[in-house]
Amino acid sequence: LAQQDKQLLAEYQQGSDENYMRRLQVLQALPEAIAGGKLELHYQPKLSCNSGEVLGAEALVRWHHPQLGVIRPDEFIPLAEQSGDILRVTRWVCETAINQQQYWLEQGHQLQVAVNLSAIDLQDASLVDFIQQQLAQRRLPAQNLTLEVTESAVMADLEQAQKRLTELRALGIKIALDDYGTGYASLAQLKHLPVDELKLDQSFIRVLQADNKDRIIVHSTLRLAHQLQLSTVAEGVEEESAWRVLQDMGCDTLQGYYFSRPLAAAEFEQWLMNESG
Ligand code: C2E
Ligand code: CA
Ligand code: CA
Ligand code: CA
Repeated sequence: LAQQDKQLLAEYQQGSDENYMRRLQVLQALPEAIAGGKLELHYQPKLSCNSGEVLGAEALVRWHHPQLGVIRPDEFIPLAEQSGDILRVTRWVCETAINQQQYWLEQGHQLQVAVNLSAIDLQDASLVDFIQQQLAQRRLPAQNLTLEVTESAVMADLEQAQKRLTELRALGIKIALDDYGTGYASLAQLKHLPVDELKLDQSFIRVLQADNKDRIIVHSTLRLAHQLQLSTVAEGVEEESAWRVLQDMGCDTLQGYYFSRPLAAAEFEQWLMNESG
């Protein structure tokens, strides 16, 4: 090998070793983070496209590690899925979000709270009972909870997803199809799925101004969704102009940095006060 290639190879190996070490550290620290209450939920508002009224929030998990710093869910959720720790993450997220929602209800905030599920959660036969127990303990109507599953998680095992989502929906829980448009499902394939809400992926929303073809795709998806009696959500709204376009297209709900980033519970409450005051 030429000297230059050797150097490149060494750098590459060092880089991938660092990646490997980091993944190992994250995986090793995760069980303790779950058990020791080191995870935190942040909440991002979901608003009515027509009135701007706050309808609810999506719960998004955060992990601040004393040595490794902030570990983003995009990094640790896939690892937790591989190790099986995801089942405990999901239970913690559900329990915490339901408790928070009950507290907000007592404070006079009626909010729909959404929680994310992984594909692996759909295989967990006892998840339905667990969520039902949590709701009952807090005397929270199941209708106030939304579970978000990605299109790709559903397509990974369509039959399993159909079965589990039907059980969850029988309790009264709302089901949202997340990241819609990034998988390979057609609405025709999904028409038999027990789903209430379609969340258009951010990639369509961010280019809404620039690309006329994306505009056509978004518009026809919204129309089709409404014909199938699905409520529609656009996520990744970063500019007011996108809001206007989506309003003209009849989108129901918006979420994105333009309104707010995901916020810690106390910050979210503050944000709510400013919104209404
Ligand atoms: P997601 O479910 O699609 O969540 C939306 C992500 O987009 C969030 O990233 C949110 O902070 C970000 N986002 C929201 N509005 C905007 C915007 O206007 N512009 C941009 N650029 N980004 C925006 P986050 O919190 O880093 O989460 C990333 C992903 O990690 C989530 O994507 C979800 O797939 C996963 N995740 C997060 N929390 C959980 C959880 O509790 N359980 C599971 N299974 N997955 C989770
Ligand atoms: Ca989501
Ligand atoms: Ca999404
Ligand atoms: Ca996503």
